[in-house]
Amino acid sequence: MNQSGAAGRLPVKNDLGFFEIRMESIGGLGANVAGKILTEAAIIGMGMNGAGFASYGSEKKGTPVKAFVRICEADQQVRVNSPVEEPHVLAIFHEALAKSVPVTAGAKPGKTTVILNTRKTPAEARDFLKLEGGKVGVVDAMEIAMATGSRVNMVMMGAIMKAAGFFEWKAVEASIQEAFGKKYPALMKGNLAALKRGYDEVKFEEFPVDGKYPSTPFRREVPKLGYENAPIGGTIYSVGNSRFKDLSTSRTGMIPLFLMDKCTRCGECDITCPDYCFVWEKGKDPKTGKDGMVLLGIDYQYCKGCLRCTYICKFGALVPAKEAEQDMDKITVKHKFLKKSS
Ligand code: SF4
Ligand code: SF4
Repeated sequence: MNQSGAAGRLPVKNDLGFFEIRMESIGGLGANVAGKILTEAAIIGMGMNGAGFASYGSEKKGTPVKAFVRICEADQQVRVNSPVEEPHVLAIFHEALAKSVPVTAGAKPGKTTVILNTRKTPAEARDFLKLEGGKVGVVDAMEIAMATGSRVNMVMMGAIMKAAGFFEWKAVEASIQEAFGKKYPALMKGNLAALKRGYDEVKFEEFPVDGKYPSTPFRREVPKLGYENAPIGGTIYSVGNSRFKDLSTSRTGMIPLFLMDKCTRCGECDITCPDYCFVWEKGKDPKTGKDGMVLLGIDYQYCKGCLRCTYICKFGALVPAKEAEQDMDKITVKHKFLKKSS
């Protein structure tokens, strides 16, 4: 790897001559668009060369997404199309993803700057991600996006620009204008404010390789089932496996908050929720004292944060709230049969 600052505008390049960025996100946070904007800024706005592409499963809000950006000098051809394995900048758009996806795979101290969308400090982020060492950046992208009326991707792009060090403001602004200016002109001011705040407010800290955590080399995901070993007819062998399902990584910052004293136990939320999140038990109605089913709360393991229940509840017993401001362990109510069998 050439870390010496080769000729041209790229501060560092890998052996193949590229500066590489990887974004780990979920559908709905705009990583794919962010990758396209940065790639176009470098190619069209700055006269460089490169490629930007994304990898995702079903095009559904909440499913994991990876976006890749590969930039090189103008006189180099792009002959690589594979995913970015060892990025110079690794931007993690959604903190909870780290629970289910190896987001830090391929991060290398001395090469990779890891940026996390979080309220944590860089030291807390390093511990949370169990990073071997290296440069860690943190930015509260959700908070900034909400304050500016923009989206997480704009804030993260600002932070990525700071870490990368070679993107030109005018080129990125023009690329954002091209992407959203005609369709959503009213959002431009907020988008540019979010970009600027991401750039200004990301905080970096460098950590030595002190043996606290092992390295996390990149490994290609190999599907467990293929054409040679898939069960006939797609039979599911692991009975009741949906109890292990964790949809919390699908949430994009908001949860429904249950206010028990306002609940009339009408059951509308239960009919509306697509994911069996509401926990009911037989008991006495706290208001009338009558026996019946009582809503105890929400099992947030299964809640994907769609907020449909908050719209359906006519009694104000379910209100949208920022997830980061809640102690999720304290407000989560587990389904009784899951508590017994676990
Ligand atoms: S819709 Fe509202 S009032 Fe009705 S059971 Fe659900 S939380 Fe309670
Ligand atoms: S936000 Fe409400 S309706 Fe949506 S998954 Fe969560 S509990 Fe169910």
